[in-house]
Amino acid sequence: MLTVDEARARILAAFSSLPSIDVPIREALGMVPTHDVVAPHPSPRFDNSAMDGYAVRRADLGDVPVTLEVIGEARAGSPPSGEVVAGTAIAVMTGAPVPAGADAVVPIEDADEDAGRVTVRAAPPGHGHIRPAGDDVRAGDLLVPAGRELDAGELAMLATMGLSPVPVHRRPLITVLSTGDELVRPEVEPGPGQIRDSNSVALAALVRAAGGEVRVRGPIADDRTEVERALGNAAAGSDLVVSSGGVSVGRYDFVRDVIEQRGRLDLWRVAMQPGKPVVSGAIDGTPFLGLPGNPVSIHVGFEQFVRPAIRKMRGCREVLRPVVRARIGHRIEKKPGRLHFVRVRLSFEGGEVVATPTGPQGSHIQSSLLDAHGVARFDVDETVLDAGAEVTVEVWRLP
Ligand code: AMP
Ligand code: MG
Repeated sequence: MLTVDEARARILAAFSSLPSIDVPIREALGMVPTHDVVAPHPSPRFDNSAMDGYAVRRADLGDVPVTLEVIGEARAGSPPSGEVVAGTAIAVMTGAPVPAGADAVVPIEDADEDAGRVTVRAAPPGHGHIRPAGDDVRAGDLLVPAGRELDAGELAMLATMGLSPVPVHRRPLITVLSTGDELVRPEVEPGPGQIRDSNSVALAALVRAAGGEVRVRGPIADDRTEVERALGNAAAGSDLVVSSGGVSVGRYDFVRDVIEQRGRLDLWRVAMQPGKPVVSGAIDGTPFLGLPGNPVSIHVGFEQFVRPAIRKMRGCREVLRPVVRARIGHRIEKKPGRLHFVRVRLSFEGGEVVATPTGPQGSHIQSSLLDAHGVARFDVDETVLDAGAEVTVEVWRLP
């Protein structure tokens, strides 16, 4: 059986980043530039005042207090006007261009204006409350490297630079479908033996959170013809199809079969718990990932294989979750042979990260995902982790 890392490497090899599209910056949150974004001009573009006050010449402030003649006004948004000459000052607003001749701004708090004259009580510090052109960014500076997601800070910088629209990788469209005779929609009261389809809700949420666009299909009956038709339909127009259920060895598990017969089966089964019977391949040329139906299996399988694939298509440089070393909160045991992903909550105690398992860890224990911050890797050959043992935790989110 393949290890998780081997399986992920094989799966990811089938994906590449999607083509570039131009997107207005107001719609580009979370998208990923296709090229390095470089500053076309400095910021700020002109020397401007950091304070409301008076633009002055330092040479006039040798002996404070000193009284200067106020000869004009510089407002934010107006071109520079007038020139400060010996013995004069120009009233200046925050963000206004510094008038010619001035080399410092005296804040209002250090000045008294009366009848067209201002008395300066204190000389300004070294920077003179002037924000020089290029103080923040110089022309040619690298602002956002290709492969980094655009967040508010990056988008604001693109706005400042007038770089809209921005060329980014198109978002992948993922079709999510649930299979199982037992499933009814979440809005429906289940009949005897039926359960509500929670996996398509979870998968859709996971796809969105991973930056993909999602289309939801199903529930699909456990019928070979139905499964084949549903997978074929799902493939049309999708960058990836993700299914839940029907990939194990049950009498009515048809998904792997259909992929093998009609599509291309690349791998089946990974040495992990939960989520072993993963299927990867393609259907009608569209990449396909089939996750086993247990609610924890789809979540863990999504994290290990689907999210990295989505991020690769989005052009993200980093496709994996960050990891931290942590101390396990209490003793846990398992059989050797598979990598266990133990859902944990993180806390910070005395400068150390503690990862406390969220309770029973069966693949049907949906409550083990509630308020989980990530998974601790309980390695293939390990059988015991004593309380306080060091583990690697894949971080989904911080407390
Ligand atoms: P399967 O992988 O199809 O054998 O399903 C494994 C277990 O997961 C069974 O107990 C199913 O009832 C359950 N299951 C399958 N699909 C879903 C779903 N969409 N929502 C919730 N539970 C599911
Ligand atoms: Mg099933």
